[in-house]
Amino acid sequence: MSTANIQHYINGQMSAGDSGQHQAVTNPATGQVTGQVALASHADVATAVAAAEAAFPAWADTPPIRRARVMFKFLQLLGEHKDELARAITLEHGKVFTDAQGEVARGIDIVEFACGIPQLLKGDYTEQVSTGIDNWTTRQPLGVVAGITPFNFPVMVPMWMFPIAIAAGNTFILKPSPLDPSASLLIADLLKRAGLPDGVFNVVQGDKASVEALLDHPGVKALSFVGSTPIANLIYERGARHGKRVQALGGAKNHMVVMPDADLDKAVDALIGAAYGSAGERCMAISVAVLVGDVADEVVPRLAERARLLKVKNGLELDAEMGPIVTAQAHRRITGYIEQGVAEGAELVVDGRDLDVATTGDDCAEGFWMGGSLFDHVTPEMTLYQEEIFGPVLACVRVPDIATAIRLINDHEFGNGVSCFTESGSVAREFGRRIQVGMVGINVPIPVPMAWHGFGGWKRSLFGDTHAYGEEGVRFYTKQKSIMQRWSDSIEHGAEFVMPTAK
Ligand code: NAD
Repeated sequence: MSTANIQHYINGQMSAGDSGQHQAVTNPATGQVTGQVALASHADVATAVAAAEAAFPAWADTPPIRRARVMFKFLQLLGEHKDELARAITLEHGKVFTDAQGEVARGIDIVEFACGIPQLLKGDYTEQVSTGIDNWTTRQPLGVVAGITPFNFPVMVPMWMFPIAIAAGNTFILKPSPLDPSASLLIADLLKRAGLPDGVFNVVQGDKASVEALLDHPGVKALSFVGSTPIANLIYERGARHGKRVQALGGAKNHMVVMPDADLDKAVDALIGAAYGSAGERCMAISVAVLVGDVADEVVPRLAERARLLKVKNGLELDAEMGPIVTAQAHRRITGYIEQGVAEGAELVVDGRDLDVATTGDDCAEGFWMGGSLFDHVTPEMTLYQEEIFGPVLACVRVPDIATAIRLINDHEFGNGVSCFTESGSVAREFGRRIQVGMVGINVPIPVPMAWHGFGGWKRSLFGDTHAYGEEGVRFYTKQKSIMQRWSDSIEHGAEFVMPTAK
């Protein structure tokens, strides 16, 4: 029997599962183990799928307006418990509490969107497509669908998925990151209190083995994944091989272009927040500043001054601007990139490895701490430029003009988010049209689309056809059916051997 205190949630109940395996959960600010999360076996996943399959027929038959009412109640409970969720995020992820509150708020936006499901599921109808025949299209749920989510948004990213999937009539299995699993169980409790029938929302905790079990299980009809690109690629291929619908959102290397005509105070503010907020552990973090013309000479010293002044401390302290790195392993990976950047010849202007741990807070000496790092004179051949670091490291690349900036960005393997700071309407317009990136900001450093617009990158930042949430999300979690109907008084006698055409 497992001694895990962070369990699965299957068919409306906590379940220890039968694998007997678990993994430590750590508070990154203190380095202390705070819990043990169960790791699901194939049998545990099969139990969750069976519960979700059993709940599906009645839930799919529930009128959308009644499903929406459960979402409205859930929305109200989220409002009452949002700080509890934010605290759970900070304790296991490390991001500062105010940022965690922002994450919860952006998740709540999607629940609000899902409350409109009756309108979103409304089909099209054409009377008289041929004499006496009408034709309409409707969208129906898929069945059991699963969401596999990353550590960096343990509330918001699951909420990109399950509110829409469930409101559309599917039943759902969430497989959160084992690094910060507790928020998933708070969500499960709120959904139950909102009146969601047992089995409609389930949580299986775990890692690779549980994901593979979900990928291979014939009862799972669709998979939404958010995480790193190598895993996204693998999930997309293996899911597709099993005939599943898959959307797999991957990694990123987001650039922010600063034009010589930009308001430099605002551009520097934007770079500091977008590069070092959440310790750079955001898929929409800015990790490359593309400095056009001679702006680098002015921008780099200002960035350096601000990076050195970052308040890096326990995220529960309200003046904290940046928390710790999520794990010791991630800390080592980021440190390795900094060492490699220096070895490859980039200029390390601010070295985050120098952070004085004594300033991070009481009991934090064993936490996974690092300050913000800043590199200048980074070039496209460097590993530092090419790979996703996913930490508080900003690389400055100097380019002569906007055409070079656009070419540089379009040549990168990732295409998640991008931003351009300029006061020129024509530069902004050309940039928006020519850039090969899914989400574009003009004087907006982190252009995360609102709930009704949908989220997704291009190139190796997304595998699949549809973006997450918004109307794309509704399409992903439903399949279209076309019904053509006539009644006996308009049916002519005799077999027809030619292709039917409108009469
Ligand atoms: P990750 O790829 O390590 O893990 C994501 C999920 O996959 C987790 O649930 C994990 O348990 C599971 N997983 C890990 N290894 C697996 C394997 N070998 N087989 C099957 N499943 C496996 O990502 P992470 O470190 O949790 O999150 C950070 C990454 O997520 C970054 O690359 C970031 O850019 C990306 N991300 C992307 C978006 C986006 O919208 N594009 C949003 C958030 C995060």
